[in-house]
Amino acid sequence: MKITLSHLTKKFPARGRKGKAAAEVVAVNDFTFEIPDGSLVGLLGPSGCGKSTTLNLICGLQKPTEGQIFFGEEDVTTLSPQQRGVGMVFQNYALYPHLNVEQNIRFPLENLKGAEKLSKEEMRSRVEEAASLVQLDGLLERKPAELSGGQQQRVAIARALVKLPRVLLLDEPLSNLDARLRLQTREEIRRIQKKTGITTLFVTHDQDEAMSISDLIVVMQEGVVQQIGKPQEVYDDPANLFVAKFLGTPPINLFTGTVKDGALYIGEETVLQVKGVPDQPVQVGIRPEGFLVSETGTFTCALSRPEVLGRDISILASHPCSVNPNVRAIVDAESCEHLSGDTVRFLLKSQKVLLFEQTTGSRIPFESGR
Ligand code: ADP
Ligand code: MG
Repeated sequence: MKITLSHLTKKFPARGRKGKAAAEVVAVNDFTFEIPDGSLVGLLGPSGCGKSTTLNLICGLQKPTEGQIFFGEEDVTTLSPQQRGVGMVFQNYALYPHLNVEQNIRFPLENLKGAEKLSKEEMRSRVEEAASLVQLDGLLERKPAELSGGQQQRVAIARALVKLPRVLLLDEPLSNLDARLRLQTREEIRRIQKKTGITTLFVTHDQDEAMSISDLIVVMQEGVVQQIGKPQEVYDDPANLFVAKFLGTPPINLFTGTVKDGALYIGEETVLQVKGVPDQPVQVGIRPEGFLVSETGTFTCALSRPEVLGRDISILASHPCSVNPNVRAIVDAESCEHLSGDTVRFLLKSQKVLLFEQTTGSRIPFESGR
C-alpha cells in the first residue's frame, strides 16, 4: 500500500504562561512525500523534530492542521485510527503485565466488531502466525516479565501485525534495548518487513539504525524535511550542512575555509581545486575517510595520536580552522608508517569533501580537478 502525504502540516497552539507570549509550534511543516508500496522508510531526525507527530498523523491519533494523507488512492485524512488499518509500535510498547504473550498479541483482535469479528479459532491461528513471524513460538504462555527486552519488543511487533495492517508504523521501537539487542532486533524488523511486504515507516533518531535498514530515509529538522533519498545517496550527497552533520560515524570534520580563484583554502594552504565556485568564505566538511596520509599532502594538521582500530587506523589531529577540537581521519594501517613527528600531511579525496555556504549551510556543488 502506497502512502501519500500531501502538504501535511501540524501546528500546536502557543501555550505561554499568563502575560507571556509563546510561539506556536509547527511540529510538521508542509510535508509532501510518497512512501512507495512495500518499502521501509526511515524517518530520521533529532529529538523534537516532529517524527512522532508525523506518525500520529498517519495513524490518525492526531488530526493535521493542513494537508492530506492517502493510503493507496483512498483519502484517509478524516478516518479514525480503527478505520485506517494501521499497526503501530510505540517507543514505550507497554505490554499488559497480567496477560501472557498469546493474550497480549490477541488483544487487538478481541475488540473487532461487526463483519471484522473473528471466531476463537481464527484468532488463535492469527496469533500463532504473528508469533511465528517474530519467532516467539513456544513462548506464548509466558508473562512479559518472563521475557527479555528483545522478546518483549517482538511481542509488541506481533501485536501490531496481528490485525494484518495495511501500514506498519514504528516509533523508536528499539530505544529501550541494549546495544547488541538493538542490532539484532533491527535486522529482525527488516526481515519481518521484507517477508510481509507491509509498507513501513520506521522512526529513529539514530542514523546508524536508519541507514542500515531503510530503503529510503527522510531527514527532518524542526518539522521541515531536509532531504529524502536512499541512505548512501543522502550520505554521499547531503543537501545541506545539517544533513551532512547528522549522518556518519565518526561525524564529518568541519573547517572554515575560503574559495579563491577556483581553489579551496583552509588556513594558508590550498587543499583542493574546486572549479566553478565563486570566491567566498565557506564551511568545509571532510568525511573521516576522505584523508590520505601523504608526504606531498597540502593539508597539514597537528598530530595528536593514532588510534588502532584493527583494519584501519583513526588519526586524531587538530587544526586551527577546525570547528571542533579534534580532526578525525580514518586511514588504512599501512599509511601510518609515514606518521612521525608533530604534524601529519594529508591529501584529500575530492568526493569526500563537501562545501557549504557559510551563512545558510546550503550545499555548494563543485567540479573537482587537480
Ligand atoms: P520527535 O518525535 O521527533 O521527538 P515530536 O513529534 O514528539 O518530536 O514533537 C515535535 C514538536 O512538537 C516538539 O517541539 C514538541 O514539543 C511539540 N509537540 C508534540 N506534541 C505536542 C502537543 N501535544 N502539544 C504541544 N506541542 C507538542
Ligand atoms: Mg518521538
